[in-house]
Amino acid sequence: MFRKLLVLPAVLLLAGLSLAQNADSSATRQDLSSLNGQHEPPMLGIHWARGFTPFARPAKRSPNMTYHGGVIMPSTVSQAIFWGPSWANSSLVGDKITGLDSWYTGFSNSNYAKASDEYTGSNGQVGPVVTHNGHLLDLSTAANGSSTSAIVAEVCREITSPVSNGYYPVYVDVKRGNAGYCAYHTFGTCSGVTVQVAFFFNIDGDVGCDPADTSGLHSQGLAALSNVSGHELSEARTDPDSPGAWYDSRGQENGDKCAWTFNVPLVTFSNGTQWKIQGEWSNSAYTAGTGYPNSSGQKGCLDGH
Ligand SMILES: [Zn+2]
Repeated sequence: MFRKLLVLPAVLLLAGLSLAQNADSSATRQDLSSLNGQHEPPMLGIHWARGFTPFARPAKRSPNMTYHGGVIMPSTVSQAIFWGPSWANSSLVGDKITGLDSWYTGFSNSNYAKASDEYTGSNGQVGPVVTHNGHLLDLSTAANGSSTSAIVAEVCREITSPVSNGYYPVYVDVKRGNAGYCAYHTFGTCSGVTVQVAFFFNIDGDVGCDPADTSGLHSQGLAALSNVSGHELSEARTDPDSPGAWYDSRGQENGDKCAWTFNVPLVTFSNGTQWKIQGEWSNSAYTAGTGYPNSSGQKGCLDGH
């Protein structure tokens, strides 16, 4: 455990270099975990922190995403897991647990969700319905996210009846430290059922992962988690599994392509809650020139506003 923690910064540094070198090669997926030399589920759709740009060079081809033959999520059943002993402390909990439950409930059937519904896969079309089953609390010591299989194992421990369209975001009490990312999503198998899993650091007071919501509606920590939650859930819906569905020539998924760009101060969800949240890439909006620009000035981002 201790050795692994010490090794992590070196692994991430190597990963960053490797990704930078591969930025122009085709279909490079974001996979830090393979560098550990273990057969682990890949880290997909990594939500890089502000200023951490492994894809700094412009793409040579169309920025639109292409289909890679896999499934999408026609609907979603979600249940959040809050993992780590600090989730017993009101100073960490604050408005986050109730706020995120409300976030997932309001995501369902929102215009924000519908902004990702143009994508189809071998099993149908992405749909906006999310059935949110609340949250679970696990006060045991949490993993730090460097092992995707540890996050999948936590989901399998906590979720007694996993469903095939299940999406299980894991919010740990561990701070990001030197990691260049705020969150990622991946997938795994619990009792033979394929599940979608996401990992989120504790990003309280972490300027590298902060959307800088000034609305006063939420604590900084909740506002930050809700923004990265939109990124990861939108990616899981459109690119959930192996061999993958929708990503671009550099392996970027719909959340990656619009990360850290915001169209409006607040996006309203179906339950009336409001969030400062990044948009998601739309091929059709880019082609029609009707999206708002991402950080490369490409007008393909939609937030349903
Ligand atoms: Zn991503």
